[in-house]
Amino acid sequence: MLHIIRVSFLSLILCFLIPSLAKAAEVSDQKIFQARMNLYKSLEAATQIPWYYLAAVDHYERSLRSARTDLPKPTGVTGIYIPPEKWSGWLNPNHFDDHPLSILIFDGMGVDGNGDGKASLKEDEDILFSFAHYILNYGIDDDHFRMALWNYYKRDKAVGLILEKAKLYQHFGKLDLNQKAFPLPLRANYSYRSTWGDSRGWGGKRVHEGTDIFADYGVPVKATTYGIIEMKGWNKYGGWRIGIRDINNTYHYFAHLSGFSKGLKVGQIVEPGMVIGGVGSTGYGPPGTSGKFPPHLHYGMYKDNGKREWSFDPYPHLRTWEILEKKKRK
Ligand SMILES: [Zn+2]
Repeated sequence: MLHIIRVSFLSLILCFLIPSLAKAAEVSDQKIFQARMNLYKSLEAATQIPWYYLAAVDHYERSLRSARTDLPKPTGVTGIYIPPEKWSGWLNPNHFDDHPLSILIFDGMGVDGNGDGKASLKEDEDILFSFAHYILNYGIDDDHFRMALWNYYKRDKAVGLILEKAKLYQHFGKLDLNQKAFPLPLRANYSYRSTWGDSRGWGGKRVHEGTDIFADYGVPVKATTYGIIEMKGWNKYGGWRIGIRDINNTYHYFAHLSGFSKGLKVGQIVEPGMVIGGVGSTGYGPPGTSGKFPPHLHYGMYKDNGKREWSFDPYPHLRTWEILEKKKRK
């Protein structure tokens, strides 16, 4: 039976990742990741749906809810939100119905996941199992999962984001993909200051959308995050540049590179600290133009809500990553 569910999400706005410095917060984060993983794995055992599919949907919905004001904030382990009408069945007179049988009669989405006889919107197992149950109506291979997602969200962008997240979770085999790295080796000679929003020193009319880290030509440039290479090549202003999207849908932009690491390609999965190229001074001309300004890494960070993309100041993030990395080395 195919459920045709008419839901249109107004917009997709993802949250900013706020790096947590406190150790206590880190410990509780790890506990939450563990609780989530346990939930996904037990569902995988029961339904054969790969845990990383469930994790990806869960992460997508949690981000959505933390950014939108018209949805209740997640209170449990799962971030998936199913509106009561959809849960109980659109024609069900009781939208807070938790009887599996009457929900079934009204063609609602809710099912009993933890075997307590109720299909409750307040229980993580029930919510996640209901979503899994919905996916099972389609099938659990990539193509059917994609189809199930499309019919649920009715947005290509949502499907694309969820599949990218699934790819990252599958590759790394863990949920905590928030670790970051400073883009240059700490032992290198480099300097940077906050210049985001300044008018550009050379060329172009836009304000400066990043932080410039000055260093010697050829100093290795590293990926700052877990993510997927979305773009790689020449740009008139950026020179040889690379773009990486992370699990929180933040886009990390590296420009003016001397070149790229061998074999690096679009679609490739990277992790923090992986060398992707070298500091250079390319740009402001046709492909290969170099040396019009002192060598530096231009590092930009962008958010995207499916409708527009905006730059935000990478400087405080760079400082945080630098400090964390220094601490780790001690
Ligand atoms: Zn710059």
